Amino acid sequence: MPDFFINGQPVHAEKGQTVMQAALAAGFYIPYFCWHPHLSVAGNCRVCVVEVEGEGGSDSWSDIACNMPVSEGMRVLTDSESVREQRRQVLQFILLNHPVDCGICDKAGECMLQDHHYAYNGEPSISTVPKVRATKYHELSERIVLDNERCIVCSRCVRFTREVSKSHGLAIRNRGDHSLVRAAEDGRFGADAYSDNVVDICPVGALLSRNFLHKARVWYLQATASVCPGCARGCTVNLWHRRREWKLNALDPKQNTEIARVTPLENPAVNGPWICNKGRDLARIFERPRAGQPMLKGRPATLLQAASAARGLIAESARPVALVSSWGSNEELAAFRDALGSRLRCFVKSDHAPVAGEVLEDALLIRADKNPNTATAQQLFGSAPLSLPDGTDLVLVWGEGFDFAGLPRGARVIFLNGYLAPENGHADVFVPISIQTERAGHYTSFAGVTSRFERLFARAPEVADAEEFFAQLAVTAGAG
Ligand code: SF4
Ligand code: SF4
Repeated sequence: MPDFFINGQPVHAEKGQTVMQAALAAGFYIPYFCWHPHLSVAGNCRVCVVEVEGEGGSDSWSDIACNMPVSEGMRVLTDSESVREQRRQVLQFILLNHPVDCGICDKAGECMLQDHHYAYNGEPSISTVPKVRATKYHELSERIVLDNERCIVCSRCVRFTREVSKSHGLAIRNRGDHSLVRAAEDGRFGADAYSDNVVDICPVGALLSRNFLHKARVWYLQATASVCPGCARGCTVNLWHRRREWKLNALDPKQNTEIARVTPLENPAVNGPWICNKGRDLARIFERPRAGQPMLKGRPATLLQAASAARGLIAESARPVALVSSWGSNEELAAFRDALGSRLRCFVKSDHAPVAGEVLEDALLIRADKNPNTATAQQLFGSAPLSLPDGTDLVLVWGEGFDFAGLPRGARVIFLNGYLAPENGHADVFVPISIQTERAGHYTSFAGVTSRFERLFARAPEVADAEEFFAQLAVTAGAG
């Protein structure tokens, strides 16, 4: 447990910590490109250089903070004149070949090179030699493109595929200013279920998501905290969407209610700083065609009429069964139990099953259960396998994943679903319900960690909030 000094102030360091780790933990600023808290030390960008004061009148010396272990009593300067000058030169060197095309770069606004350049250099290039030209649009995979000119060869992306995703999908070919990040020829980078994390960790705009390419400037977007419902891991994510103050009234106003991109919301208890590619593609799940019209046997009705009809069916039923959604929030599941749990026989339903080609499960994050809240649903309603008892005369189906061909002959159906589906019009009562982006709540992961998601968008007028809708049905349960 050594104590040392940064800029004259005593700082405590844990055993084995580097100057970088101890300094950041104590709130001191040291710039970096290649260093990443969850990757091995490469030490190639040199911008984290610090000065170590010599002992007993000896000369001071400089070294990189990311690879320097703390030793007892050492005195480190993070912002001396010498340090600032060395960083200025490092940035001049990095910018010898890096293009200043921030105006068309997706990383603009989030780029570490922009930030460090303005902090330590800020001058135009002094080089009289033209910058090295390279391919601006090199396809590393179906999901990711590389702008070779912007790459500063920090090797973060390469280390990620070796140390985290373990696909070994990327490497650096050639030397010096001929260096190029390239994907393995056998396509393993394309098959890497975590590949999009390299876009986040690339410190510059070299690695770009094809889903997000030139879609929006990041300062027009805001991030709302959410939870990925793609599997029982429950990774916390940021859902990025258009800021209210930058609302579009023309030029495709649909963008106001769309998810522009998904990034990890760092969470040491669940997913660390990573998510899988399925989590990046949540727009494909949430932005499917929505159901917005309550129906009685396929005929349009109001929400009030649907609630009244559902109450009537439950009151009349001798053997009602409920298939409870494993995509319901903790709040909705509790509301369902309070309103109807004692009136209906409840089974927990798997709303989503693995699809062809999807990674079933792995040792990093991905879980075989492709539903976010099986844990709470089973805690409240048990884990009995879904099997409709003889004599079932009413089935309340909450959410997706149930094949209506399995309904008992003659049974009445109440169906709550957020999306357009052929089954909607076949139900005796159909109620369109809000989806995760239209409400706030919590999910509990397979490991028992509860995480909160927030509301991004308003729901349509005839779309019900399931929690409120269940409370309306409770009248019947009490009377029955
Ligand atoms: S592509 Fe980005 S992360 Fe990869 S080596 Fe280049 S700068 Fe670093
Ligand atoms: S591991 Fe599961 S919860 Fe995490 S991002 Fe992937 S699908 Fe979503």
